Amino acid sequence: MLTEVHVPDDMATVLSLMASGATVVAGGTSMMPWLNDHASPPTELVSLRRAGLGTVRVSGTTARLGAAATLAQVERDPALGFLDPVVRSIASVPVRTLATVGGNLFARRPHGDLAVALIALGARVAVAEPAGTRELPVAEFVAAEAPAGLVTDVAFELPAPGAFRYLKAARRRFNSASLVTVAAGVTETAGVVTRIVVALGGVGPRAQRARAVEAALLGEPLNAETVAAAAAAGLGEIAPADDAYASAWYRTRVFPVHLRRALLGH
Ligand SMILES: Cc1cc2nc3c(=O)[nH]c(=O)nc-3n(C[C@H](O)[C@H](O)[C@H](O)COP(=O)(O)OP(=O)(O)OC[C@H]3O[C@@H](n4cnc5c(N)ncnc54)[C@H](O)[C@@H]3O)c2cc1C
Repeated sequence: MLTEVHVPDDMATVLSLMASGATVVAGGTSMMPWLNDHASPPTELVSLRRAGLGTVRVSGTTARLGAAATLAQVERDPALGFLDPVVRSIASVPVRTLATVGGNLFARRPHGDLAVALIALGARVAVAEPAGTRELPVAEFVAAEAPAGLVTDVAFELPAPGAFRYLKAARRRFNSASLVTVAAGVTETAGVVTRIVVALGGVGPRAQRARAVEAALLGEPLNAETVAAAAAAGLGEIAPADDAYASAWYRTRVFPVHLRRALLGH
């Protein structure tokens, strides 16, 4: 049973409460249903609300999103307009006013759409632990079975115009979980792909980087043929599951279609 919710004013206190067994709560959009549904929920929570992790800052070409910044804050920042399709594809306005950037890195299938976008942007996450802060790619952090530590912020370089692609296929246009989410950062030079990062959601236990898809496209022109070949390569690295939104079979069938739409726009 939940016995205490701490709301400290600084990060050091958050870390010491975590070290003594408290569980972090940010927006609570995943945590609160979990508290209600599980037989042995955490007994102590530590809230990030006042811990000073809620800033969104764009300075020059670098964006830094505090872990406790809400999705609504990201949506409001004019310098991050390219992320509007990502943020608006997540849940609903009320959920986005609570759900945080850091919390989305812990989301499991079929959620984690912001994490998918951050992986494609090559974002790095700062994680504080009692021993100090480490920084690692979001892709690596999210890939862990149970990521540890306090996420303090996420940073990335703003993409060149047109370089960032995003598509979330869902049953409804708004407020619906992912069937397949694709985000990509693509650079083409002289008609061929010279740099590509592809990230996927909805087709595995968590947001993931699609290295086989990337390898198939690097050095190639982007067209229906090369993207179909990349999708075929990508089938080996996805692990869709059945849920209330779609079957694993369906997700597998439509993955190549949505990869093509994300990368080619048709
Ligand atoms: C109705 C509904 C619809 C949704 N639809 C979507 C959707 O379409 N797409 C999508 O991507 N997501 C969706 N979600 C999930 C939601 O976006 C994520 O749950 C949200 O980003 C989590 O953020 P939070 O701040 O609420 O996390 P919380 O619920 O507070 O925490 C979630 C987990 O993350 C941990 N955590 C949170 N912040 C930190 C931190 N800084 N450091 C360490 N650990 C931390 C917590 O301990 C907890 O384990 C939906 C949720 C709901 C309720």
